[in-house]
Order: sequence, then C-alpha cells, then structure tokens
Amino acid sequence: MPVIITKKFRFESAHHLPGFPEGHKCRRLHGHSFRLEVNVEGEIDPETGVVMDFGIIKSKVKPFVDQLDHEYLNQLGEIHSEELLKNPTSENLCKWFFEKLKPLIPGLHSIVIHETCTSRCVITQ
Ligand SMILES: [Zn+2]
Repeated sequence: MPVIITKKFRFESAHHLPGFPEGHKCRRLHGHSFRLEVNVEGEIDPETGVVMDFGIIKSKVKPFVDQLDHEYLNQLGEIHSEELLKNPTSENLCKWFFEKLKPLIPGLHSIVIHETCTSRCVITQ
C-alpha cells in the first residue's frame, strides 16, 4: 500500500507579478515567507520501514530553496534566463520546483507552495 511522506521548507523572497493589471497591489515589489512542501509517494520498505530517508529529500531540495532564499525572484529569472521566475507566481514557483526535482526524487508526488497563510498552489504530475 503506497503512502505519501512530506518534507517542509521555508524561504523568504521578494517578487512582483508583471501579469497583473496596472495599479494592482501584486504588481508592486513585495515579499513573502513562502512555505514549500515536497510530497513523495512510495511503498514502505519492509527492511527500513520508510519510503525514503527525509534527509535524502532535504539534500535534493535544499540547494534549490537556497537559490531563492532572500532573493528578488524576478531578477533571478532575468539573470539566469528562467522563464518561470520572470513571472514568479505561486503557480510558476510550483512548476519550477517540480521540474527541478522530478529527475532527482523518485516517486515525487506533488509540490505545494504556500504564498500566505490562506493562499497556496498544488501541482501533481
Ligand atoms: Zn506576492
């Protein structure tokens, strides 16, 4: 029976959302304490009793979290030609993490980005 395990991360970043209409508050430069959840699905290994060592998930995800932490995301997108970061909505951040992590984490089930306490985005394969 497959189960889903979750590892959580936090990062602080600034952004603005150029796709919003002129005068909309999201077009202004502002920041969020983003929360990231990485969900991995798999069978419980009968010998270890786990799906995957949480430390392995952390080692794969942390370098990408560190890339975004205390950065101006739109600027990162321009510097590194990363289209998803040029318009860093929660939706595009979800896609960015999913695309980066899919090849690195077998069984990656979904990515969740919480932009605020009441707003989040989920992407599954
Ligand atoms: Zn925002």
